[in-house]
Amino acid sequence: MLEIDRLNAFYGPAQALFDVSLSVAAGEMVVLQGLNGAGKSTLLKSVMGLEVRTEGTVRCQTPDGLAAVERWETHRRAQAGIGYVAEDRRLFTGLTVRENLHVAAGRNARLHEARVLDLFPVLKTLLDRPAAQMSGGQQQMLAIARTLMTGPKILLLDEPCEGIAPVLVAAVRDALLALRGEGLALLVVEQNRLLASRADRLLWLVAGKVRGS
Ligand code: ATP
Repeated sequence: MLEIDRLNAFYGPAQALFDVSLSVAAGEMVVLQGLNGAGKSTLLKSVMGLEVRTEGTVRCQTPDGLAAVERWETHRRAQAGIGYVAEDRRLFTGLTVRENLHVAAGRNARLHEARVLDLFPVLKTLLDRPAAQMSGGQQQMLAIARTLMTGPKILLLDEPCEGIAPVLVAAVRDALLALRGEGLALLVVEQNRLLASRADRLLWLVAGKVRGS
């Protein structure tokens, strides 16, 4: 479970988010929409503690209970169960699929690997391929799979279906729905509405302010 309360975000003196409050429950997929520059990516980065200065509260359910994490280092937030898949995917393109998965793996690596290959069967056939030689959609699956190797309970996804082939959009969507069914809390940024119809709730960001139900 993720709870964001009165979050403000700043790049230097410029404010990008204004009093944003929202929550995502376990087993819920919330889709966040908005125009270019509305602040969608900034919201995910704020939750992760990346790049942007924030004020306000970010709480999440950790193995040790509900915690306010907004002053924690990014790696500690990741260890506490927040997974983040950036828009640019941040893969190690010179490494193989298997190596990319294991760079991120912590405890229970074998268990997680079995799970992610079950979720994205196409990766099973590509384990020895360098990430650079995969299609955009395959790379997106790998980026999600790599994040899942840490066993997150909250998943933040920035435009996961952007620019990928329709057949792979369906595979990504089905995987996300399966994860929701397993009780993960999903906060998904998207502009192209490919996931919106399957969302539990839709929110809009307009000039750094949240609208929606
Ligand atoms: P897009 O769909 O284009 O990615 P977005 O809704 O994700 O848009 P953000 O990228 O979060 O929007 O940007 C929100 C605002 O913050 C914009 O005005 C943008 O110019 C500004 N911004 C984003 N990143 C930085 C940065 N690193 N330094 C300064 N300003 C930034």
